[in-house]
Amino acid sequence: MSAGPLLQVRDLVKRFPVRSSLLRRTTAQVHAVDGVSFDLIKGQTLGVVGESGCGKSTMARCILRLIEPTSGQVVFDGQDVTTADRSELRALARQMQIIFQDPFASLNPRMTVGAIIGEGLLIHGLAHGRSEVADRVTELLTMVGLSKDQMRRYPHEFSGGQRQRIGIARALAVQPRMIVCDEAVSALDVSIQAQVINLLQDLQEQLGLTYVFIAHDLSVVEHTSNRVAVMYLGRIVEMADARDLYAQPKHPYTESLLSAVPVPDPRVKRRRTVLQGDVPSPIHPPSGCHFHTRCPIAQEGLCDRERPQLKSAGEGHTVACHLRS
Ligand code: SF4
Repeated sequence: MSAGPLLQVRDLVKRFPVRSSLLRRTTAQVHAVDGVSFDLIKGQTLGVVGESGCGKSTMARCILRLIEPTSGQVVFDGQDVTTADRSELRALARQMQIIFQDPFASLNPRMTVGAIIGEGLLIHGLAHGRSEVADRVTELLTMVGLSKDQMRRYPHEFSGGQRQRIGIARALAVQPRMIVCDEAVSALDVSIQAQVINLLQDLQEQLGLTYVFIAHDLSVVEHTSNRVAVMYLGRIVEMADARDLYAQPKHPYTESLLSAVPVPDPRVKRRRTVLQGDVPSPIHPPSGCHFHTRCPIAQEGLCDRERPQLKSAGEGHTVACHLRS
């Protein structure tokens, strides 16, 4: 397998206009994604973490062009996604799939599971005729740990974990190369989470899939990701190999997120850093370092004035902080 990047994201920006209810004039902008760049190697998993509202899901939707980015570039296997026309986007959509947090909301309640999974096969001409579609749906159901008999049932007849398996089977039907898992396990019980994560990892091994794994909880991405990007108010503040990030976090925000992750060994004591206040509004993000209003080591006159750029903090490790390297 080639080790080149399958996905390259460069300076991606997404702003949403805020309009006044009376004249529909743009009165402000939500800075949802604020200059995000990264590469993702084929067959690897990039975990993206941060509190809700930090721009992770918007970033994912911009990468897939489910929403239009304001600026920046996304290149998938050498093809510019940001400038792709409709027919190119349709072909790209087959290669880049997404699994959502709430599978129930994304599965049509009036369609049987067989029809939901088979839909992509028919749209993309990957199976022809009833029996070929049924055979392929059976194969996909087996791959995700469900049975052929469940093909005729409706989404409401399944548990949350099973519904997420149906969502995975639907994504796999079109033989994607990359899957974005957008909080795909966040709504599930911990034991079911582990089962779905194991399934995703087995499928990655079998099919050579590349994942972007979005979660608000660092413990979820720890065992699934090769690399982890930590986002705060639309920006990546730290990025490193998963092991490195967990062992030696550099950014004060990453430290605070990690301090909230329970340690299974009771002999290991981790100092808890509780952040003050809520995430500021992305309509008026703080000046300089977006994190300065909550950072326990912020320096007045520096952090509130100058935006820290991502800089090297070791091999493959980058951090956006004036005081850490
Ligand atoms: Fe904290 Fe300043 Fe570093 Fe931002 S740049 S994380 S405010 S120390």
